[in-house]
Amino acid sequence: MSSDILQADLRARLGTLELELSLKAGNGTTAIVGPSGAGKTSLLRIIAGLYRQAEGRISFGDDVFHDSAAGIFLKPEKRRIGYVFQEPRLFPHMSVARNLDYGARRRGAPPSGARDEIINLLGLENLLERLPHKLSGGEAQRVAMGRALLSSPRLLLMDEPMANLDLRRRREIMPFLEMLHPRLSLPILYVSHNLDEVIRLADKVLVIERGRVFATGGTAQVLNRPDVQQLLAGAVGMDAGMDTDLGTILDASISAHEPEKMITRVSLGDGLVLRVPLRHEPTGTALRLRLHPRDIAIATQSPHGLSIRNSLPGRVNRINVAPGGQRDVSIRLDGGGNIEITARITQGAVDDLQLVRGLEVWALVKSVALASD
Ligand code: ADP
Repeated sequence: MSSDILQADLRARLGTLELELSLKAGNGTTAIVGPSGAGKTSLLRIIAGLYRQAEGRISFGDDVFHDSAAGIFLKPEKRRIGYVFQEPRLFPHMSVARNLDYGARRRGAPPSGARDEIINLLGLENLLERLPHKLSGGEAQRVAMGRALLSSPRLLLMDEPMANLDLRRRREIMPFLEMLHPRLSLPILYVSHNLDEVIRLADKVLVIERGRVFATGGTAQVLNRPDVQQLLAGAVGMDAGMDTDLGTILDASISAHEPEKMITRVSLGDGLVLRVPLRHEPTGTALRLRLHPRDIAIATQSPHGLSIRNSLPGRVNRINVAPGGQRDVSIRLDGGGNIEITARITQGAVDDLQLVRGLEVWALVKSVALASD
């Protein structure tokens, strides 16, 4: 499929909000996050051509969607965009199969193998003859996703597709999306209030605040930034999932299995290795890990004779006040990768260990959560 780049530089006045931002997205999932009213949905609508009054330029590959200076505005249906909304918006009188084929009929059928693959990936085989009112919320939303994909889009826009689903249904859909996203070689813009979803699905994150870009970059890089964590923690309508603390997000890959010890070694790069309970994925598989600050302890000497198996050398980089008067100590790990992990400890512990910026320490990782668990 395509490897075209979406590029947007736009301005729009939306009531009292001045939207002014630039965005570049290639293949893969870019999550768009930020407080309610920041302009996330408006951004998708402008890209889709559903809001005409914006100024600026939006292009996708060689196609110009919108160029206000040149008077160019490509109609929404000519942009070949798949759009998935919070609610499924299925045609109530049509079966699942006919709903799925609706977009394909309008735009020319996708190759038949692709239709079967999407039906299979979204687990829709047994639902094809049903009418929408016989579907659960999660099933209906999977059909909506399938319908968008079967219209052969070059770009997929998803606006909080799971916001109206309860936790159980979200859990039911997540594995489908996790499988689907890497298989689609097209750019996906995914608006979400749920950081668990973002951590599991996104390759990149764009944080928007009051119509402007607050931060953009790789998922771990952006979500580990203290200012981003602070913005999102205080944001109206943000939902961190089950956790109030985002913790440290690390991109890792499986380097070896040791079944006799029931562990899997995962590499963080720079020769840094963590041991996690035995995994079933093959070596080389990418994993996103989440380290909770409360699960990290600090030692000022190389630890021996400890039950904690994972200790990572580094240096104290920052000490911040955390909620409840605790201290968040950021440790920059040795190696050139600028990996930082945060430990939450008491002020008493900071004093006892005489922690100061630059001090050599070991981060003792008591437990590692995998983003997909
Ligand atoms: P988000 O998706 O980040 O919650 P929205 O894009 O929905 O934010 O809305 C951003 C702001 O723009 C809101 O204050 C909303 O009321 C306003 N807005 C959105 N669309 C329009 C419009 N067509 N006309 C005027 N104001 C709008």
